[in-house]
Order: sequence, then structure tokens, then C-alpha cells
Amino acid sequence: MIVDEALLQLHAETRGSDSVRPVAILLPSTDEQVSQLFRLLGREGLGASVRGGGSGLVWGALPHDAVTVISTARMNTPLRIVPEQMNVTAGAGVRIEEIAAGVAAHGFRLCGGMDMPPFATAGGFVARNGDGYGGPLGLADGLLSGIRCVFASGDIVSSSKSGFSGPLDLHGFAVGSEGTLCVVTEATFRLEPAPPREVIVVALFRDVVAATVAGVGLFKTGFLPDSADIIAAEAIRGALAGEAAAAAGAALLVSISGGEQDVEDGAQWVSGICHDFLAMQALVTENRQRQEIANCWRSAQRQFCSPHGGVLADFSCPLAALPELTGYALGQAREYGVVLSGMVRVASECLWMHGAAKQGEEAKEQAFAARLQEKALALKGSALAAHGVGARRLDLLPSLHREADLDAMRRIDAVFDKDAILSLSLPQARSAERRDIVARRRREEEVRVLKAKTAEITSKASLGALAESLAVPAPEVLGLLVRSARERGIVLSINGFPRGASLDLDTSGLNKVVLSDNTSRVVVAEAGIALNDLATHLAANGLWFPGSPYVDGAIRLGDFLAWETEGGFAPGYGRMYSRVLGLEAVTGRGDVMSWGGMVRMQHAGLRLSELCLGKRNRYAIITAVALRVAVTPATRQCVVASYDNIAAASSFARLALRGGQGSSGHLAPRAVALFNGPPGSGRSGEGVSVVVEFSGTSSSVAGHVNRATVLAAVEGADHITSHEDKACEGLWRRIAERYSPVPDAVNDESLKLVLTTPPDTLGFCLDHISRACSRRGRRCEYVADALAARADVVVPNGVSVAPEILRELDENLTETPARIEVFSRHEGLQEFMQNQGQPPLAEELKQQFDPSGILPSGRLPAIGR
Ligand SMILES: Cc1cc2nc3c(=O)[nH]c(=O)nc-3n(C[C@H](O)[C@H](O)[C@H](O)COP(=O)(O)OP(=O)(O)OC[C@H]3O[C@@H](n4cnc5c(N)ncnc54)[C@H](O)[C@@H]3O)c2cc1C
Repeated sequence: MIVDEALLQLHAETRGSDSVRPVAILLPSTDEQVSQLFRLLGREGLGASVRGGGSGLVWGALPHDAVTVISTARMNTPLRIVPEQMNVTAGAGVRIEEIAAGVAAHGFRLCGGMDMPPFATAGGFVARNGDGYGGPLGLADGLLSGIRCVFASGDIVSSSKSGFSGPLDLHGFAVGSEGTLCVVTEATFRLEPAPPREVIVVALFRDVVAATVAGVGLFKTGFLPDSADIIAAEAIRGALAGEAAAAAGAALLVSISGGEQDVEDGAQWVSGICHDFLAMQALVTENRQRQEIANCWRSAQRQFCSPHGGVLADFSCPLAALPELTGYALGQAREYGVVLSGMVRVASECLWMHGAAKQGEEAKEQAFAARLQEKALALKGSALAAHGVGARRLDLLPSLHREADLDAMRRIDAVFDKDAILSLSLPQARSAERRDIVARRRREEEVRVLKAKTAEITSKASLGALAESLAVPAPEVLGLLVRSARERGIVLSINGFPRGASLDLDTSGLNKVVLSDNTSRVVVAEAGIALNDLATHLAANGLWFPGSPYVDGAIRLGDFLAWETEGGFAPGYGRMYSRVLGLEAVTGRGDVMSWGGMVRMQHAGLRLSELCLGKRNRYAIITAVALRVAVTPATRQCVVASYDNIAAASSFARLALRGGQGSSGHLAPRAVALFNGPPGSGRSGEGVSVVVEFSGTSSSVAGHVNRATVLAAVEGADHITSHEDKACEGLWRRIAERYSPVPDAVNDESLKLVLTTPPDTLGFCLDHISRACSRRGRRCEYVADALAARADVVVPNGVSVAPEILRELDENLTETPARIEVFSRHEGLQEFMQNQGQPPLAEELKQQFDPSGILPSGRLPAIGR
């Protein structure tokens, strides 16, 4: 504990003026110490705020009156780099810069690259759900593969060792909570092979708006660079000579990395697009010049954080509207006499600026910010380009959320921070300013009639006179039904799962695409739409949903997101989790809540999505989703290599995942999957095939396919083929026919197992599962998505021997981080349900959101973890 005056003052300093000197700085170094601290603070009625490096305290949880500061400075355990699992674990207090340097020494980089202030910490980055480099992978939550945190209740929570999200997992609430629910004590980040080449394309334009138009045009083509920021041209004049540099008003800086050919193609593409958008000059900078440009870029970034008053003008809006918002900001700045500094972050769809008026004219700054806020909201954007629920964001929450949303946040807070140690009390919503993610039609009359109808239906169900499916026509109706069911204690199932409920809610009627913004690559759809129908809609607009390639297209979007959040992690596209920009759901209380919107930098407040994604309808039923999709790639091609055993196949899959490891040049696969028995051929030998898919421009894909073919041969493949677009799709479809992430699709007699385990242990676990099955005279069929660290296993006629198989696996896989869930019913599986503990906090959360227990528990028989 520190009570030294000078240090206390240092911890009081933030960029804002409303900070207060803390009474003590607490420096715990272990989870247990943090937990004890929280219990002590709770007993003494003291508040606390959490501090990492202090770089992001801009709008975060500031030290407020009579509080302590919990610093993570001593949570600095050395890095644990696990090259086989391609991840790194760091204590919360370790600086991002140290992590980047540590993993670079092993030939890796943090996924998507990352550029942070030198003192930013791992814990601070996770707590803010930062957007890192602003790159295509999304926010911190998309880059994480695990965290540990201590909630203010004193509970220590960590993500499962094998997968990131399950129905009882709670750690996701910590991400982006900005120190208002917990202390993040440790984070595990995904790594990617360090790219062989990195360049920055510098394109000069006459002004910022012209550069923004070009940046948006670039993303519209589907190109996904590591980052794309626009800064004032004068900021880079020191690093660039020439007439264009002297005359230009703005520079678009696009960073690209990857294999030699990919970077070559990418740089040419970006330069071409910039010239199409009338760039005065576009040049590719590498090595020393690139470094100089990067330094100028960083100092422009720092200007955003001017400590001398002014206002933050950080707003986000859908990509398509970014030029309009930028133009408006510049116009208003002129009108109010406000000088702007900072940047336009095209990849993050936001303005990251700071505005300062002359001394004595501060009122103008506030008026300027208010105008911009209005404009951003009118453009379906957000009044801030950041996450969390820090002190200064509180005022904004009522204009961004409805009362039901704020009520849900209060309930989350009540579970995790019972003694209000970290909390900042959430305001009431301004009811007039409702912002729905779905533009809903008014349905009052319909709702009135349906209210009577739902009462009738649920009455019948409660008398046991109805055990059938009911089609849900609208979220409000679903809300009414849930309320009615709640009053009568009727247990519900959603689209047939879990079986045996009194009333099944069929969401297939909620199947509309509500909005489609092709430039911003955002689609808002109702949750009952089948993935195939969504894909058809997207294809008609040149768009594509980059999910796990083998997922059954008949599954509904809501079910898919409730059951699967990894969804095929792919470099360039990220996890499914990160592709959900907003959602609407009906809780077990019958409240319709919504979260997020159409841009990725706007999730002010606690993450209500955590009640839905991967939670299997335990707390709420998803009714609509806003998704970030991708532009259909010019070419898709896959290489299929067959091996005579799983060990050889998984060795090739591992190498492909690790970028080829230099042996045959850099590989950047979009999907890496393993399956046994070639689908569609009818043959069911012992062979195992590996599918590695690439997408992008035809020259880059051709290069990857050649290199992957060589690598597969070197690794001893019996047979190698390559398939183009349609054939590739057909192959995935045939695989998908046998697998589904939702339990209902399984035939009664077949045993279905879902294995989650890091890619390096996939082969080992699948081998054990195969052996356990063959010892009982069964043959299992599997398909594994190596990037998502998940395998689906089906054992035809396996239900009768399920307990024996599971018992054997339980004994043999204890040394691995594997977790296996069983998606089939068998009475003998009860013992595997009882083995699972129910975290008390998950139970409290269930109480808050489904007090009558009418929604599914989401739990399945399982081993491991
Ligand atoms: C010049 C500059 C450039 C930046 N560039 C980027 C960028 O490119 N991308 C980006 O994402 N961000 C950027 N940021 C924002 C910010 O620096 C980062 O989000 C950073 O990761 C915050 O880390 P920190 O350790 O400094 O956190 P702090 O500033 O100490 O804290 C930030 C918030 O998180 C909470 N917090 C901190 N540590 C923990 C913990 N362990 N557990 C729970 N809560 C905690 C605090 O209470 C506070 O509310 C930038 C900031 C500056 C000043």
C-alpha cells in the first residue's frame, strides 16, 4: 500500500479535471490478494478504482472521492509464450509493448498487430476492450483466448482452459467493463506468425474529407489492411519530401503485412484505389522510411491526448457515413473556432480527435461537441468511439440506451459488485430518446390482440393441454409470451431445444433482413433467419458471412450465435463474437433489451451481449442481430490433403496454422479443418483429410495453394487435390450435412460430442475418441475446425454406449485442456451433469434474468475443464 503524497498525487492525475486524490494506492500481486482486498473494502464501505498504465483513463473509471486505487503494477508475472498453442499469457500489469517484444523473439506478433502508448498494460487494454491497431480483427475480445479476473464480489473467475465461451462462463463481462465490475488480473492473447513483410502505403490528398472518401472506397472493395488512419499532411512532412507532400492537406496511411506476394498485391491495390480517388501521390514505404512515417503517425496520435483542456471529439458512425461525419466536424470546427487535432480511423469507423478553442471560449468547445454528438447519432453512429462505462460516459448512457437496457446493466452490476465498491451508479434512461438497433414498426393493435392470445396459449400449456410449437411473429410478442409463461411457471424451449419443455417457441417467423448497408458491410437481420437465407441475401449484394465453413446452413442465426461464438476464427476475419456489432434479445423476465448498434466502437455501458452470445438462451433469447460481414472474396480455393492417420494429418494442419513456418513460404489460411472419411464418397476408411482454404485475389490465392500443396507433400500426404470456388463450397456443404452446432439436429440414436481443445492437442484427443469408440464396436466421424479449436464428433448408434465412452475419455484426457460436451440424451449421462459445478455468480445472474427458471439452463453433460 502506498500513502506517499507525491505518488498519490500522480495517481490522481488524468487528462480530465474531475479527478480526486485517492487516500491510498493498493498494490496486490495475486488473485487471492485482490479478492481479500475487495472483501475488506466491502466491509469498510470504501470505494476503489482500478488503474493499469494510466494511458486510457481519459474517460475511464477515475479516482473519485474518498477512494483507494487498486494498481496492477505488481501483477507483472513473466510472459508465458506457448508457441504450440499460438498464444501468450501476461499478468495484467505487463505492458503491451513488452508483450509485443517478447513474442517477436519467438517469430510471432499479437494478432492484427498493435500500437499502444508505451505504458498501456494488458489489463487496461482488456478492461477497455480496446481496438488495438484498429485492424480487421476487431476489439480486444476478438484477440483474447482467455482471461482471469476478480470481480468486486471477491469471486475469482477464469475462462475455461479449452474454449473461450460457454453457458456458465462469466469472464466476458469483465472485457470492456473499464474497472467497474472487476480487476482483470491476467490475459491470454492469440498470436499469429510474424509476417515476413510490412509496408505503409502513404497516399496524399488535398484535404481530410477527400482522404476519408478514398479510405471508405478502399474498404468497400473488401480489402482489409492492418490499419488505415488519416492524419494532417503536415504531420508527416518531416518524413516525406517533394511537391505533393508540401501541397497536400491530408495523408491516408494504410499498413499492410503478410507474405511477399500478398503485400506486393495489396500495396498495388491500395495505390490503385487511392489514385482512382484522385490521390495527389501514393507511395509504398518500407524499412527505415516506414519507421519514420510510423513515428510521425504516433505523434499525431498523441496530439489527440493533449493535456491542456479542450474536448474529445471521438465519434463513430457506419463506414458509409464517415466522410459526411468528417466533413461536418471540420465545418463545425471552423464555425465555432475550434482547432482539431488527431485522426480519422477508417478501420475503426471513427473520428479520434481533440478540439480546442481559444482560452476563455471553452463554451464553444462544448457546443461544438454537442453538435457532433447529434450528427453522429443521426447517422446511426454513436456519441463516442469507445467502450465501457467510465465516469464521463455515464451522462451519455441515457441517450444511447433504453430503460430496459440500463435496468439489465444494473442487474449485472448487482451480481458482480454487490457492495458498490467499483460501481458508478447508472442513470435513468430518457424515455423519449429510444435508439433501437432494429427499426421496428409500430404494432400496438397487433400486440393487444396477441396479448389475449398469448394468455390463452400459456394457460393451455400450464394445464398440460398444449405441448407444441408456437411461431413467434415479433420480439414484443415474444416478450409477452415470456411474461405470460413466467406468471404460470411454464418451461420454454427455443426451436426444439431442450426437449421436453411445455411450450416450444419457434423463431422461424422472425426471418427478415431488416437493413443492409453494403458499403459499411453491416447487415441487421432477425434472429430466426436461416444461415443459408442470410447467405443468399448477402451474396446478392456481393457480401459474404465468413463463419465456420462447414456450419449447417439450415441453422437459424439466433441459435447459431447462442450456441457457437468462435464460429471459425480466421486471420483477417476474427471470431464470430467480434462480428456481432449489436443485438436485441428478450430476457427471461420478458424485457426486450438491446445492445450495440451498427459500428464497432460504440458499446458504451456493460456488455449485454454477454447474456446472449454462447449462453444457449440461458438468460435471454436473441431476436435480432447486427453483423459485420465481408465482401465476397475474388477467389476462394482449398487444398485437400489426405493422410493415413490423425497424427500426420494434425501435424500438417498445425504447420498450416502457423503460417507454414518458413519451410515453403508464408501461408495465411482462412480455414483449416480436419475430417475422417472423405465426405460424399461413401468410403469410410481410417484416412484423415485436411482442408486448408485461402481467399483473396487470384494471384495471392494461387501462391498460397502452391505453397500449401508443397507443404502437404513434404508432410507425407497420400493424396492432394485442390478445389476452386464452387467445388470448395460443395465440399464444405457435404461436410456440414453431418454436423451441426445445435443439439436438436442430432438423430436420437447417434451420440454427438463437441470437443474444444487448443489446436495442438486436437489430433491427440480425436485419436483417443476414435479408439474409445472402436473398443465399443463403433466408428466415429469427426470434423474439426482447427482455427476455432473445436471438433464435432458423431458416433452412429453411439447413445447406448455413451456413458462407457465418456468414462474412458474422462480418465484418458485428464492431462489435456480438452472439454467434451454431449449433445445427446441418455439417462446414464446424469453423472456427467452432476460433476459440473455451477458457479454461484452464474446462478445469481440466472436469478436476475430468469427468476422463474423458464428458460433453458444451457448445461449439457460434459467432461473436462
Ligand atoms: C496516445 C494514445 C494512443 C492510444 N492508442 C490506442 C490504440 O491504438 N488502440 C487502443 O485500443 N487504445 C488506444 N489508446 C487508449 C488506451 O491507452 C488503451 O486502451 C490502453 O490499453 C489502456 O491501458 P492502461 O493500462 O493505460 O489502462 P488505464 O489507463 O490505467 O485504465 C483504463 C481503464 O481501464 C481500467 N483498468 C485498467 N486496468 C485494469 C484491470 N487490470 N482490470 C480492470 N480494469 C482496469 C481503469 O479503471 C480505466 O477505467 C491510446 C491512448 C493514448 C493516450
